[in-house]
Amino acid sequence: MSQGNNYDFIIIGGGVMGASTAYHLAGRGYKNIILLEKEDFFGTGATGRCAGGVRYQFDTEINIRLSLKSLPMLERFMDEIGQAVDYRKTGYLFLLTTMDEVAVFRRNVELQNHLGAQTEWLSGDEIRKRLPMMCLDDVIAGSFNPRDGLVDPNSVVMGYISAAQRLGCQAITSTPVTGIQVNSGKVVGVNIPGQFISAPLIVDATGPWANQTCQMAGFHVPISPLRRQWLTTNALPELPNDFPFVIDFARSLYFHPEGLGLLTGMSNPMELPGYDQNIDPEWELVHLEAAITRLPLLEHAGMASHVAGLYEVTPDAHPIFGKTPVDGYYIVTGFSGHGFMHGPIAGKLMSEIILDGNATSVDISMLDLARFSEGRLIHEYNVV
Ligand SMILES: Cc1cc2nc3c(=O)[nH]c(=O)nc-3n(C[C@H](O)[C@H](O)[C@H](O)COP(=O)(O)OP(=O)(O)OC[C@H]3O[C@@H](n4cnc5c(N)ncnc54)[C@H](O)[C@@H]3O)c2cc1C
Repeated sequence: MSQGNNYDFIIIGGGVMGASTAYHLAGRGYKNIILLEKEDFFGTGATGRCAGGVRYQFDTEINIRLSLKSLPMLERFMDEIGQAVDYRKTGYLFLLTTMDEVAVFRRNVELQNHLGAQTEWLSGDEIRKRLPMMCLDDVIAGSFNPRDGLVDPNSVVMGYISAAQRLGCQAITSTPVTGIQVNSGKVVGVNIPGQFISAPLIVDATGPWANQTCQMAGFHVPISPLRRQWLTTNALPELPNDFPFVIDFARSLYFHPEGLGLLTGMSNPMELPGYDQNIDPEWELVHLEAAITRLPLLEHAGMASHVAGLYEVTPDAHPIFGKTPVDGYYIVTGFSGHGFMHGPIAGKLMSEIILDGNATSVDISMLDLARFSEGRLIHEYNVV
């Protein structure tokens, strides 16, 4: 490490949030930045375990607005960052099986269209015609946005890390932050094994681990790590090339093309918060049974891989951006299951908050940490 271990900014965490923040700060001309990642590689936390889905379909205006800014950044990624990220516009197709869901999603589609996301409404018959290989008798209707799709998470993280390094930022792995030093209410630096690194500004981008790091700084953030898991299958030649990202909303059960086969996941509603990232074999069986009921051809598919990771969940399923009770200590976390897709704009917004005093690309003033103590929670229905 150079500069006598004194930096302008320390970023803790090398997932999509830390990488994007590092790039956007460096892009504004700041070189004296260090990003610290505890694992041996960048992007092995939630980002590396995520399903790679990107979508415009949300039910709150703020999440739709974040997508409207972030997904085009992923489309332009190669031109701007110099890294291919394999944006595949498969579209997301939400399957709705109750009248309550239909009513909510109808409103959501109107809101999305009003804000500029061209989501389509499909009848149950249209969906059955489109997906004849699935059992969809109970599907009443659905929504589809052809610009939703899939992007490779590792390429996004490494694209931002490499671009930030080219701009002069340091980014190092195998370096856990073990302490955070605060003096008279102001952050002064962090401890890593055997060393102290100082900086007047620190960005906590530790995702599911954010409450651990914030507690090192002396305060609590309402982030719960919640295990989620998925598996991939071997090749399924029966699947059409245009098979979309399908979500059975009531069951939180999803399928999307992955390689020559499928990736499928299902959220366990009984999962308790914790840091266990091992596969839950019992839930995997429940999931597989539900997946086969919807898509019977899976009965003969072999499993190619399976992965478990942690969502970083807030009480209102919306992220937290910006200031904390400790002066100079900022956080960007809590995306509650859909942070990968909002990573690009989140890093840009953090650079605006830190360098300009407030975020200008999107009004995120309602996503401050203080909303939890002040009772200003936001409700998002569309969490998978
Ligand atoms: C199974 C699963 C499927 C998902 N599917 C999707 C999806 O389809 N689409 C989508 O948009 N989102 C999805 N998500 C959510 C998405 O992955 C997260 O919202 C996003 O990746 C969070 O990024 P992050 O940078 O905040 O966290 P992370 O990627 O977890 O990065 C935090 C980093 O901080 C590091 N760290 C922690 N503590 C310390 C410390 N003390 N010192 C140094 N480093 C530290 C960790 O090692 C980690 O690398 C999914 C998540 C999971 C688990």
